[in-house]
Amino acid sequence: MTEDSLLDRALVRLEAAASHLQIDPGVIEKLKYPRETTKMRLMIRMDDGSRKSFLAWRCRYDDTRGPTKGGIRFHPDSSVEEVETLAFWMTFKCAVMDLPYGGGKGAVRVDPRALSKSELERLSRAYIQAFSRVVGPTRDIPAPDVYTNAMIMGWMADEYNQIKGEVLPAVITGKPIALGGSLGRNDATARGGYYLVRHLAGELGLNGNMRVAIQGFGNAGQFYARFAAGDGQRIVAVSDSSGAIHSEAGLDVEKLIAGKEAGRSVTALANELGASVIPAEELIAVDCELLVPAALEDMITKDNAASIRAKVVLELANGPVTPDADRILDERGVVVLPDILANAGGVTVSYFEWVQNRQGWYWELEEIHSRLKKMMEREGAAVWSIARDRKVTARTAAYIHALSRLSTAIEAHGTQPFFTS
Ligand code: NAD
Repeated sequence: MTEDSLLDRALVRLEAAASHLQIDPGVIEKLKYPRETTKMRLMIRMDDGSRKSFLAWRCRYDDTRGPTKGGIRFHPDSSVEEVETLAFWMTFKCAVMDLPYGGGKGAVRVDPRALSKSELERLSRAYIQAFSRVVGPTRDIPAPDVYTNAMIMGWMADEYNQIKGEVLPAVITGKPIALGGSLGRNDATARGGYYLVRHLAGELGLNGNMRVAIQGFGNAGQFYARFAAGDGQRIVAVSDSSGAIHSEAGLDVEKLIAGKEAGRSVTALANELGASVIPAEELIAVDCELLVPAALEDMITKDNAASIRAKVVLELANGPVTPDADRILDERGVVVLPDILANAGGVTVSYFEWVQNRQGWYWELEEIHSRLKKMMEREGAAVWSIARDRKVTARTAAYIHALSRLSTAIEAHGTQPFFTS
């Protein structure tokens, strides 16, 4: 691990929260390191008959509060460090939401867009063959993440069932509905963030006419745009890996989504939407009230944080704001609703899916939405009141909230004074 690695920067948040709590030093010692990281090389047959290998990982960071839970990412830049950091964030995210889970994460270093559909299926099945002893319905439960989706989860669940000789849908969440997936999982991340902003809008100084800029227009970004536009908010800018577009009058979200579904990039759609193409890095500096990073980590850093004009940043992505940028935003009075709370709607509905799979009893969509809303509002209000009472940022408050739950669980096995008194 290098001195200023992604995981080191994530641990800064743990230390900041710990300084506000009286906890046993053993708690921090336990949470500073991942418990188990497995690295494998996946070998698959390509369509042209050749063989190709891909590096893959699965990390179970901490399982004190329950089986580990976290997505699988397919990305050409994936690394062990990224996987372990994402697993650390999952540990805290599940604790913020009081889900009975620890944190995990997985990845394959691959550009999935360079694979055919059959190669992608073989790679997904190879992942489960390699990690079938790591994952399991009561051990470690994967889900989709960047560039993985419901179909991939369906292949993976099927592979696990074939290996075990049983049908065990609770091994993985985010599956297609027809294969034991939950209603409401596809838009849950964005919906959770939307419920959170709506619940805290008064405290955040936001009103129904707010202008919104969204970085990243995939699952999280598109659904957020749809919910916000449905509420009469103006989506003034969006970006994807091709670049960014801007329109002060507001973008037509349904046309944008239809264009993306047809395989086009947002910049290719600019003309017909009456929008202008702007440099990708200018998206975060667009004049708006709410900025929604929904792409990848480390997008808002000390070099660009001062350019943000939004009042509030809603982190639908994991880790989009670095600790240095946090400080700059805090000084400028910009409130950051942190990833471990803001995007927790996804893992919350994944939890509902796991519960339904284990019960064999499937819930209606209204029940999913009302349970999600209640949980986002309950934990959002708890985090906000910690921030207000202790005069800390919402991020530190979310870590305090999660850490107190984690420390209660870790300390239940006994603290240093217990063993030495
Ligand atoms: P996705 O693959 O559906 O979408 C990612 C989007 O980001 C794509 O539109 C891509 O073009 C865009 N992108 C990539 N690089 C970019 C760049 N440099 N600038 C602008 N856009 C860029 O992924 P997703 O599921 O929407 O996940 C997005 C983020 O949300 C990730 O950080 C992920 O970990 C987080 N997240 C997702 C979920 C979920 O349920 N989908 C849950 C929790 C957190």
